[in-house]
Amino acid sequence: MQCSDALPLIHEYLDGDLEGADAVELKKHLLACPACNKLFKQMEQTEACIRLLPKTPVPSDLTARIMGNIPAKKKRREGWLKWLRTHPALSVASVFLLVMATSFLSLWDQDRDMVVKGASLDQVVIQGDTVIIPQGHTVQGDLTVKRGKVQVDGNVEGNVTVIDGSYNLASTAYISGHVNSVDQTLEWIWYKVNEVFSWVTP
Ligand SMILES: [Zn+2]
Repeated sequence: MQCSDALPLIHEYLDGDLEGADAVELKKHLLACPACNKLFKQMEQTEACIRLLPKTPVPSDLTARIMGNIPAKKKRREGWLKWLRTHPALSVASVFLLVMATSFLSLWDQDRDMVVKGASLDQVVIQGDTVIIPQGHTVQGDLTVKRGKVQVDGNVEGNVTVIDGSYNLASTAYISGHVNSVDQTLEWIWYKVNEVFSWVTP
């Protein structure tokens, strides 16, 4: 048992809630670990002192006074800024998404040329704005084409992603993965978000 595991068990033990295997494990640790043993003794003494204190009766109207001091639920609609202040974690997430979306949008606006991404681009032929995978050629891994046309006559051992473009699969085409066609900026952002999340959570 680790010291960090022992501390909550000491609390439970002093509260009289610890039984069975946990109690045995705690006793073993206290015998083996001088630091926790000391802490245990100190807490036990503190508990004993508290128990010796005279008991003060609770005023009979205590519940009513506490309940009376709880502010009534506000009916007014909370402002956006107030919401941000009370949900700091969500605010960070929305700002993050906003920044991400903005940077994707600016990327989108900046480059207008065709982009081809893949592991084995020696297997493809590029003619103008068309990426051709000729018959008999095999692209190993994923192929991504942005702002272009894809003509698959050969094989792709992976996924084909076409962003803001088009694709044509010949009868001889073989694609082991999926063909994704993403045509609009928003869809593309959504696609990137999904990609980021599938990358974060394997
Ligand atoms: Zn310990």
